[in-house]
Amino acid sequence: MKCAGDIDVRDVEEAYINIDPIQAGGRLTPGAMKALIAYCDGYSVCDNCRKPNRLDYIQKPPIDRFHRELAEFVGMDAARVVPGARRGFQAVADTYVEKGDPVLITALSHYTEVLAIEARGGVPREIPRSPGNIITPDAAADKIEAVVRETGKTPPLLFLDHVDYSYGNLHPAREIARVAHQYDIPVLLNGAYTVGVMPVDGKDLGVDFVVGSGHKSMAAPAPSGVLAARSERASEVFRTTTTRTDVTSRTFGIKEVEMMGCTLMGVTLVAMMASFPAVKERVGTWDAELGNTGLVVDALRRISGTVIVSQYPRQHTLTRVDTTQSFDRVAAAHRKKGFFFTSALKSRGIAGIIPGATRVWKFNCYGITRAQAEYVAESFLAIARENGIPVS
Ligand SMILES: *Cc1c(COP(=O)(O)O)cnc(C)c1O
Repeated sequence: MKCAGDIDVRDVEEAYINIDPIQAGGRLTPGAMKALIAYCDGYSVCDNCRKPNRLDYIQKPPIDRFHRELAEFVGMDAARVVPGARRGFQAVADTYVEKGDPVLITALSHYTEVLAIEARGGVPREIPRSPGNIITPDAAADKIEAVVRETGKTPPLLFLDHVDYSYGNLHPAREIARVAHQYDIPVLLNGAYTVGVMPVDGKDLGVDFVVGSGHKSMAAPAPSGVLAARSERASEVFRTTTTRTDVTSRTFGIKEVEMMGCTLMGVTLVAMMASFPAVKERVGTWDAELGNTGLVVDALRRISGTVIVSQYPRQHTLTRVDTTQSFDRVAAAHRKKGFFFTSALKSRGIAGIIPGATRVWKFNCYGITRAQAEYVAESFLAIARENGIPVS
């Protein structure tokens, strides 16, 4: 079946249990699906845009209220929607980073933070990870000291991934923010993997900015996300234009420079809003999600030679597994090579693992039911048994 031309219909979510590491938290709610049809046209949220002509002032649909609720949801004073978490990083880097500035990231930071810094001519400096792949407050303090000593400059920002993309480990944000603030370094909490799936309170964590990803963790279409700030910082990152043009003397009202005036003007925003009540509610059932993940993780651990490389017990649903000594051994002798594993999963209706992966791979069981989690766990065990791998 085709959507149009040679574009296939996508039916991964209908046909499979999808445990793709990056897709799990971005699946739309039914309400969002309806909203995206109704608001599918270009500038569809602009029908009732009135003075002062800015996205976050529109009352119909209730975009203004959504902005207030979004700020409250992440425990910050002000929030804006942005086209992806990366655009949130960029707005903050644009505001604070000057050419040549050292900017703190971590050994587990997402590449988009690096690009946001690089675009400003800043120099990313990584806080190393500690054993267990955790970023510790001590490592942060050591790195800050070293960078200040070496460059004579205090970094203008510290980017911290609340849960990292690589291991799905939860890092001690509160303690790291406390350290950074001793040096007056503002902290941006990258909640791409946390905002919208688990409770996140930026004020409680003591951070200056919270960034979330709509399509990663808020059941919204891409590209969407949120940038939230404390009031002291909001006036900086959400500063309004002061330009008066030379020939025509035009001014541009209260358009915000870093937001390029308005950001999400149609389907991305309205679908994000339509999912929001469900998103607010679902962060309250995070423990049940961890329970489902624990079930799958414990099944994997019963397969001889299989190692959960992520923090254990799991504090997030995104999980990294090393099966070099289990499924990869089978792959070496199998006629399908590494593809035997993902093809066995696929025939059981499970999708989302990189085809051919049998060494180190990631999965994310967020949003599936208990029964589906049991089925996924059973399937891993069955594939192991069928291929002669001992299961304890
Ligand atoms: C996915 C991801 C991002 C990028 O998010 P976008 O919303 O796609 O820009 C940033 N950081 C981490 C840790 C991620 O996992």
